[in-house]
Amino acid sequence: MSTLEIKDLHASVTTEDGPKEILRGVNLTIRAGETHAIMGPNGSGKSTLAYAIAGHPKYEVTSGQVLLDGEDVLGMTVDERARAGLFLAMQYPVEVPGVSMANFLRSAATAVRGEAPKLRTWVKEVKNAMNDLDIDQEFADRSVNEGFSGGEKKRHEVLQLGLLNPKIAVLDETDSGLDVDALRVVSEGVNRYRESGENGVLLITHYTRILNHITPDHVHVFANGRVVESGGPELADELERDGYQRFTKAATPA
Ligand code: ADP
Ligand code: MG
Ligand code: MG
Repeated sequence: MSTLEIKDLHASVTTEDGPKEILRGVNLTIRAGETHAIMGPNGSGKSTLAYAIAGHPKYEVTSGQVLLDGEDVLGMTVDERARAGLFLAMQYPVEVPGVSMANFLRSAATAVRGEAPKLRTWVKEVKNAMNDLDIDQEFADRSVNEGFSGGEKKRHEVLQLGLLNPKIAVLDETDSGLDVDALRVVSEGVNRYRESGENGVLLITHYTRILNHITPDHVHVFANGRVVESGGPELADELERDGYQRFTKAATPA
């Protein structure tokens, strides 16, 4: 059973005018079987948190730690993070022209499992996973994310999630750009992944609507680069009702 610990994480983004501090001391612990939602206004640093955990070169961690079962995630290469059981789905997934979905998924599974999946069972596995997510079979031949609609990108993310079965998944704005039907299908995919009770999820979102489908155990309000309040699912209801104003006012630096 796994635990992801984020300890007093500070990170800066590289801009034309030099580094700008975005994360100002993030503390969070996600244990196997738990789903945590991070909610916050636009620009509060939610995606920066995801990028910092993912090791995106534009985001520099200036202090603090990210540990997966006590192992230093920030010292790992991107591949090592995946092999360690961490899955990071970004708000703006990259396009990989010339690499088909089928090949991409098989390489990813090979990297994570440490050996190539047997071709015959793999084809079946992918087919079933695509069916579950209402993804057309011809999708397998298309280049990764190239020309995908917002909804298709999100389905692709959740397809990976199901096939790779990571210990901990960080999902950034998995609900953005989804219509009602796609939101349901994608949420069901995330819930299937949670079913074993052994996986942890960090669900980053601006809106509460996805939380009607994926019930979090813990909700954290994010403002000005840190967690400013934590609670249960009822905290999301309060945000739905009252918005973020109470938190953004309190979190504005003097
Ligand atoms: P959120 O995901 O909560 O909307 P972000 O992490 O995307 O917030 O952004 C936090 C802050 O960092 C914003 O002020 C944003 O403009 C800034 N920022 C993020 N990425 C970059 C970047 N690549 N270049 C310049 N500024 C950035
Ligand atoms: Mg944003
Ligand atoms: Mg964002």
